[in-house]
Order: sequence, then structure tokens, then C-alpha cells
Amino acid sequence: MKFYYKDAIRFISKLSTRKLWNAVLLLTSYYITRYTSKAIQWGLPMTVSFEPTTACNLRCPECPSGLRAFSRPTGNLKQDFFRKSLDELGSQLMYLIFYFQGEPYINPDFLDMVQYASQKKIYTITSTNGHFLNDDNARRTVESGLDRLIISVDGTTQEVYEQYRKEGNLQKVLEGAANIVKWKKQLNSASPHVIFQFLVVKPNEHQIPEVYRMADEIGVDEVKLKTAQVYDYIRGNPLIPENEKYSRYRKNPEATL
Ligand code: SF4
Repeated sequence: MKFYYKDAIRFISKLSTRKLWNAVLLLTSYYITRYTSKAIQWGLPMTVSFEPTTACNLRCPECPSGLRAFSRPTGNLKQDFFRKSLDELGSQLMYLIFYFQGEPYINPDFLDMVQYASQKKIYTITSTNGHFLNDDNARRTVESGLDRLIISVDGTTQEVYEQYRKEGNLQKVLEGAANIVKWKKQLNSASPHVIFQFLVVKPNEHQIPEVYRMADEIGVDEVKLKTAQVYDYIRGNPLIPENEKYSRYRKNPEATL
């Protein structure tokens, strides 16, 4: 496995005695609770996840945002709530995750919030479908101090890409990644660490070698292969890959369905 030392150094450089001590307290209370069966909680969260928005421009078939099928309240994260939370928790946080369901860049305040976290020396991570990385947003992303940028690239041809990323445009994603790489160079910035995340599904599993080649050509730092979760798997699902190495599901030879 490749070690990305620049990314690791950036993470370590943002640690402090307070953060480390908080992590020790949390882990100690976790193990005491586990072995004594008495609930003890010391310390504050060492990481937190914020969802910048529930909205998305794409329509991925296994995502509540893509299906427009939330059973919980939807909308954009409010910046004042975010800042207040960070003022309370920030000095203990080792890293902050800026995504869940929804496309973070749809929230117009997203990069301002990243910048606020960066100013507090918190390691920040986001994940995007890569459709909003125009030149201006790419420059602002690098300037915001974002540490890790995961870009979903689930196919190396438009035909295959759009089978899962419905309504997506692969060319736009690749241009967006190139914009980030360009601005990192222009601003002489080592961050963000850019990752192509390839969600392996049956229609794209044959393109895995090609995504590594594309990443190399653009100057992306890392490629990560990810297994897909599908909701309807009992009778099989056309998205489940043939190669079981890339699947969360195993065929049951004794199944009667
Ligand atoms: S791009 Fe991400 S948030 Fe948007 S529909 Fe697809 S999986 Fe959901």
C-alpha cells in the first residue's frame, strides 16, 4: 500500500497536545466502559461530520439525494450553526468530514465553512461529484485550506460513467480535477490531497486499470476503489460486480429464491 507522506505530515502538523489528550480520554473511557459495562464518558468528540447540503444535481440510483427520497428534513447547513458548533468543539477535533448525502458545493457557503475550520487548524475532508470545480471554485478550494478532496469518478467513458452517476458529465469532472491540480501548482500548495474514488459496480469493473492511468495523466494524488452498497440484493442486482473482491455481497449457493 502506498504511503502519502505529505498528507500524513499535514494531518500531524494540525494536532495539538489538547487534541491528543482528548483522544486519550475518549479511548480510555471507551475501554473502561467496555470492560466494566458501566457507561463512562470522558472528553469531547475527536471528529465530527457536517453535511453541507442534502441537495444534489445528479440522480444516482442508490442514494436518497439522487432519488429525491429523504424521509428527514432537507436543506443547506446554516453557517452560523456551523461556526457555533466549531467554536465549541474545534480545539478537540482531529479532523472534520464535510459530506454525507448531497453535493457539498451546492451550498454557497461551503468553502467559507472549510476556511473557517482550516483557520482553526482542523484537518478537513470533503467528497464531491466534481461538477462544480470550475476555475473559480477550484482556486477557492485550494485557497480555503481544504486538506483532502475526494472526487467520484465511476467510469472512464461517458457511457459507463452515467450508468451509475445519472445525469453526470464525465468530461466536466475530469476538467474539474485538472483545475484543482492547476491551482495547487499555481498557488504552490500541497493541499488538497486529491483522490479519485471509483465506486466499483458491474458496468465499470473492467475500467479499473484505466482510471489509474487517467489519474496519473491529470496529476491526481491517489485512486481509491470502493465497494458499492445496494438496497435490493436478495435476488441479485445488476450493479453487483462479478469480481467478489469488489463486492459487499456473496452469492448463496443454497438460496431458494
Ligand atoms: S453524486 Fe453523491 S449525493 Fe449526488 S446523487 Fe450521487 S451519490 Fe448522491
